[in-house]
Amino acid sequence: MVVLPVPGDLCRECGLCCRFSDPEVLTPWAVRPGQPPLPASFRPPGPISLVPGTGRMDLPVVVCDSLEADVSRCGVWGEHPADCRLYPLVIVRRNGAFYLALDPDCPFSARMPLSFFEGWATRFRTEEWDHLSSSEILTLRELAQAEDRPQYRAVLLLPEPGSPRPS
Ligand code: SF4
Ligand code: SF4
Repeated sequence: MVVLPVPGDLCRECGLCCRFSDPEVLTPWAVRPGQPPLPASFRPPGPISLVPGTGRMDLPVVVCDSLEADVSRCGVWGEHPADCRLYPLVIVRRNGAFYLALDPDCPFSARMPLSFFEGWATRFRTEEWDHLSSSEILTLRELAQAEDRPQYRAVLLLPEPGSPRPS
């Protein structure tokens, strides 16, 4: 299972993750309204939902109810959904293709060289993505399409069913 090694102290200081200003933006795919049945690796071990909470500077936000906010820790860590485990890498769909892209808003993105994220992206592709079935990958199309932002930096192409596998 691929988990990006973002240092816990950095996350505790930052506090951006798992708190969302918009329930439809950057929230785990498993809580998006009307989402298709997701591949198992994108589903948490039990139901998760968004509940009212507060973010930085006491701004009202919605918060994942699996967040242990007092210690800034994921309560289902180790079994958290793939899209949570990958961040600050984000699965997007751009120009008709899936990519792993890097979100520059995460401070960890600036701390490490691009080669670091390329390595983790390649691990995800070979250890998880390449083992999804064609139909599982197809269920992710709309979610990934909605996820893309102009500021995201494409890191690695994720092949689709029937497309040539990059070497
Ligand atoms: S944005 Fe990055 S540093 Fe901040 S909490 Fe999320 S993963 Fe951690
Ligand atoms: S499942 Fe865990 S990592 Fe994902 S949003 Fe909820 S608390 Fe955060």
